Amino acid sequence: MKRTGIFFTYLQGERLRDFPQALDGILDRENIIYSDAVYESSDGLLYLKPVSAELLLKVHSPDMIQRVKRTGYYESALYSAGGTVHAAERICEGEIDNAFVFTSVGDHHAGRNHFWGSCYFNGAALAITYLRERGMRRFSIVDTDAHHADGTRDIFEDDRDVLHICFCSYEHSDQNNNVDVRIPFPTSDEEYLERVEREFVPRVEKFRPEVIFWEFGYDATQGEYGDKGLTKDSHPRIARIIKEAADRVCQGKLIAILCGGSSRYLATYTIPRIIDCLAELGRFHQQG
Ligand SMILES: [Zn+2]
Ligand SMILES: [Zn+2]
Repeated sequence: MKRTGIFFTYLQGERLRDFPQALDGILDRENIIYSDAVYESSDGLLYLKPVSAELLLKVHSPDMIQRVKRTGYYESALYSAGGTVHAAERICEGEIDNAFVFTSVGDHHAGRNHFWGSCYFNGAALAITYLRERGMRRFSIVDTDAHHADGTRDIFEDDRDVLHICFCSYEHSDQNNNVDVRIPFPTSDEEYLERVEREFVPRVEKFRPEVIFWEFGYDATQGEYGDKGLTKDSHPRIARIIKEAADRVCQGKLIAILCGGSSRYLATYTIPRIIDCLAELGRFHQQG
């Protein structure tokens, strides 16, 4: 079984209202390591740190950080990105194999000097910066949120050691390790999964990153604000494809980051199934 870290923060918003209780039967498993930003640490619970000011300045401009401070989401953003950095730290230390990061606010629309769309700091970029200081070099970011990851693209566009594959509405393009895969509306789970198999798997196998980041948003699910026609079972199935690719190319080193999505029901349905897949718990019967 994989050792899976869960990094939890829930300071704002409605969608995570059922957590961490919805992880009952998961948190007590011996291969699960849980870090919480909300509750005081006690035996077995680790306190989650906000991302440091020093690290922030290596990715985002001082002016942008000041602007985020005025939004009312600064603390949420620090802890959300902090979860991803903390996950990277523990993977680097060899304490966990993979991770699921809960966030209060997103990260993939946060660039070097701009942010929008409920994203403030780019957790994946901060974690990559951290890992590079620890000697790692190559990374892949796969983004299955409904929207284009313009912030992440802004930061890594010219970086040949980051493979960024974004499933969104943009026209298909593939330049210098920056790939957009156009998802039509409507699509089906089968079509989407087939695209992930075809566009993500061979590229990541060839690229051989040291860690894979998965920007997991469920906003492309039916009824969500980025509705692409996917069912609630699509993301656990996508998780399996990405996890198995990580197992083959980088000893399973995978960090899944909660991105877009608003439904409390879908979060409560999907996230435990994704963690189940990452940690190989076998509690849920997965289709396909
Ligand atoms: Zn989105
Ligand atoms: Zn895109």
